[in-house]
Amino acid sequence: MELENCQSVDDFMSGLVKRNPGEPEFHQAVREFAESVVPFVLEHPQYQEAQILERMTEPDRIVIFRVTWEDDQNRIRANRAWRVQFNNSIGPYKGGMRFHTNVTQSVLKFLGFEQTFKNSLTGLPMGGAKGGSNFNPKGKSNNEVMRFCQSLMTELHRHIGEDTDVPAGDIGVGAREISYLFGQYKRLENRFVGTLTGKGLAFGGSLVRTEATGYGCVYFCEDMFNHVGESIRGKTVGISGSGNVAIYAAEKSVELGAKVLTLSDSSGFIHDPDGIDAEKIAFVKDLKEVRRGRINEYAEKFKSASFHEGKRPWSVPVDVAMPCATQNEVSGDEARTLLANGVKAVCEGANMPTELEGVHAFVKAGILYAPAKAANAGGVAVSGLEQSQNALRLSWSREEVDERLKTIMREIHAQCVTYGSKAKSEIVNYVDGANIAGFVKVAEAMLAYGAV
Ligand code: GLU
Repeated sequence: MELENCQSVDDFMSGLVKRNPGEPEFHQAVREFAESVVPFVLEHPQYQEAQILERMTEPDRIVIFRVTWEDDQNRIRANRAWRVQFNNSIGPYKGGMRFHTNVTQSVLKFLGFEQTFKNSLTGLPMGGAKGGSNFNPKGKSNNEVMRFCQSLMTELHRHIGEDTDVPAGDIGVGAREISYLFGQYKRLENRFVGTLTGKGLAFGGSLVRTEATGYGCVYFCEDMFNHVGESIRGKTVGISGSGNVAIYAAEKSVELGAKVLTLSDSSGFIHDPDGIDAEKIAFVKDLKEVRRGRINEYAEKFKSASFHEGKRPWSVPVDVAMPCATQNEVSGDEARTLLANGVKAVCEGANMPTELEGVHAFVKAGILYAPAKAANAGGVAVSGLEQSQNALRLSWSREEVDERLKTIMREIHAQCVTYGSKAKSEIVNYVDGANIAGFVKVAEAMLAYGAV
């Protein structure tokens, strides 16, 4: 379908679905984006004439390859891996790698697509990409993970580079995996450069990178509250997940005077009405990062808490909800339950955690709703700062990086206000704001390049 004749989101989507069959996550991410951007494009003929939306929803390229490795029983194993290089109009490709059994091309395309606009919002020169594998790191030994990472990098290294494409972590890819990947990259290339971010502090990593996604999410939440003359202080917060994003979102919420009531993993959630304080967060950090255990151990250790097997935390009444686990973890019904229980703000730490029905419910209710592109951009923003430090061959202090992170989140918030509200008095639609602001910069670059 020609975008020239495109009358509506549905017209545009029917073409996209036809071109990308069997990719529901990708369809969902594009639809959410198109609902904001198609009306904007229809008002700006220069974008329409250049077929910008059609071009933007087509990745620059996708590299697919087999990763063969040997397990601890000397059996040969094979997984599939991808790197989706979505768009490098405004900078070298940038985005994480995800290792999880549910990784498919559709998941990585949705992530790479969203990454393009998230990275644009940060104001840093970063294009959008995402990669990963259906490898399951759960239950694997360190040596197995190392052999897998080394085998993956043996292929991936030829497609990436500090000025080409800079991968980082995501679900299932943390400090351990980045270290193995970077060690192998350096060995193959015989060059010490910042081609990966999220590196250890001893070898070019940045202070605050580990904390950045969670901290940034809370900074953004505080920016939204401040905009309406309120604060997160004294509010109750429901968080899902117990990985990197969730842990540091909890830590910063507590630091700013909020009370965190829940955390979760794929086995269920814990509810602690006394609040998950700094000491309890330290326990979760050790449980998840060092011992790689399950969240029910929290309720065994802290008697104030209850464990709810196989459930998600959205039935617990809270002022602020921060989904920090994975995509589609808040259904339409769960969004309505949160609203019925009086939620004032929803701030997305995970990528696309809310189903489209839930997105519509939050926007319609007029609460403070920050979509992932804006709210979780702090992680990749500090990755961008890690690239800067690597290029300068310098490392900045914790205070300096944290201050820059706060400023970047504040500027993203300001862009959302500019593009997400027509009148000063109007409630800000952060979904429209983030989508349109992210779109404009990438679109301007693509227009300037002509037919590429
Ligand atoms: N995986 C993170 C994200 O979704 C961070 C990517 C990066 O640091 O490059 O934004």
